[in-house]
Amino acid sequence: MLREAALRVTAPRLAVLSAVHERPHSDTDSIIGRVRESLGAVSHQAVYDVLRALTSAGLLRRIQPTGSVARYETRVADNHHHLVCRSCGAIADVDCATGPAPCLTAADDHGFTIEEAEVIYWGLCPDCSVSPSPK
Ligand SMILES: [Zn+2]
Ligand SMILES: [Zn+2]
Repeated sequence: MLREAALRVTAPRLAVLSAVHERPHSDTDSIIGRVRESLGAVSHQAVYDVLRALTSAGLLRRIQPTGSVARYETRVADNHHHLVCRSCGAIADVDCATGPAPCLTAADDHGFTIEEAEVIYWGLCPDCSVSPSPK
């Protein structure tokens, strides 16, 4: 994957990719934690740099729902969308609403060439939507 993207294969890059692959929608802090588990001492800055390089090479997708820190995933290039829980911040993947990107046809494209539609479905996850048990 790294070679195809013309990036040098380095231990931090591999560790970041596998950390994000194992737990999609991870934030930077938890990625740093898991990279340190496998590689030992790695600076915050090194992980930030790797995240930026992998994201701009298209190997990682960065999402940042309103009110959340940036999160990363290895599921790229399929224009999938996200469900976000307003209460606990849980995130789940959901496939494109209809067909290939941009999957939502703009009512008026104003002459733009549209590539994708970024959709976030906001609501409550199953855990948070369970009504509290009566006392
Ligand atoms: Zn929730
Ligand atoms: Zn996702």
